[in-house]
Amino acid sequence: MTAPSTATHDSEAARRYNRIRRELSLADFLLGAGMFLGLLATGLTGHLRDFALFAAGQNYTLAVFFYVLQIALLAKALGMGLSYYRFRLEHEYHLSNQKVKSWAWDEFKGWLLGLALATVVVELIYLAIRLAPQWWWVMAWAVFIALFIFFTQVAPIAVFPLFYKFVPLEDEDLKQRLLRLSERAGTRVRGVYEWKLSEKSRKANAGLVGLGNTRRIILADTLLKDYTHDEIEAVLAHELGHHVHKHILQSIVVQVGITFAGFWAANQVLRYAIERQGMFLSLSDFAGLPLLALVSTVMSFLLMPALNAYSRRKERQADRYSFTAIPSIGPFVSSMNKLCEQNLAEREPSPVVEWFFHSHPAISKRVAAAEAWARTQRAS
Ligand SMILES: [Zn+2]
Repeated sequence: MTAPSTATHDSEAARRYNRIRRELSLADFLLGAGMFLGLLATGLTGHLRDFALFAAGQNYTLAVFFYVLQIALLAKALGMGLSYYRFRLEHEYHLSNQKVKSWAWDEFKGWLLGLALATVVVELIYLAIRLAPQWWWVMAWAVFIALFIFFTQVAPIAVFPLFYKFVPLEDEDLKQRLLRLSERAGTRVRGVYEWKLSEKSRKANAGLVGLGNTRRIILADTLLKDYTHDEIEAVLAHELGHHVHKHILQSIVVQVGITFAGFWAANQVLRYAIERQGMFLSLSDFAGLPLLALVSTVMSFLLMPALNAYSRRKERQADRYSFTAIPSIGPFVSSMNKLCEQNLAEREPSPVVEWFFHSHPAISKRVAAAEAWARTQRAS
């Protein structure tokens, strides 16, 4: 018999920290939706469009960029308080080492990256609207999916390094072990990297990221420092479980369906606002952009419980794969417990919280599932 894994109840600190984080994500949503609503209700969006056209000397493409820039500046100005609060929160709970200067620099880079992506997407949407006013939403959807797949592919090599340093893993022993594990799962991995997370955070993390030629294993230095090779193998086995069950492909398919519905709904709402309400001059009037953004923000929020339930199902599948891929569940259970403690996660969140907010099953359930699985193995 194994001893009971660890205490099952969450500390007051873990509960409070996670509650504040949930409140922050709700505040983020309300702020975003509120900003878009405010822009529409006050007519400010029309003034921003007029200013953008004036500043661009009536050049449409440049004006779209100036309009997006103004919205991005406004969103940053409004959201700065929440970002800083989040930064302070991590320090208050001793989960971060990041200096304020480094944080501010990351915020700036994140803002620039967001602006660049938003500019590309919005320019393409308005190009599609001008090329095919009837079918713009189908074109925009196709382009969006292509960009989404491209982004998943380049993110590990072009985006992650903007925020963190990565070096090839030096521990040859561990590297060979992880590569063997990947081979058994039938995936070709193009390298194992150490992710210098400790400069910014005390949390631990690992992942199998990228697609095709950018597919790589990343292991946080915080994980390498405090976890045994068996535990790291258990963590990676879970990640490989996602691969074995083709979860990336499935996620892309789901994304394809949801964005199709999203662009369709956006088109309906925009047409209604123009034809019935006279809110904008035409489809190509980019003052209507906050309405598109509002549709997508509200849709993502409403879909959150469904997408999280879907994600939890995939996490359970990946866990079950990991039980079979490693010699015993001991390292899986101990790595779960360590990660839970180190990241100040809630072991037993309330069912409502788990249902709405959690993309992963509660740690207590994951550990219980591992132990139940081990019992059935012993019985057979
Ligand atoms: Zn997972």
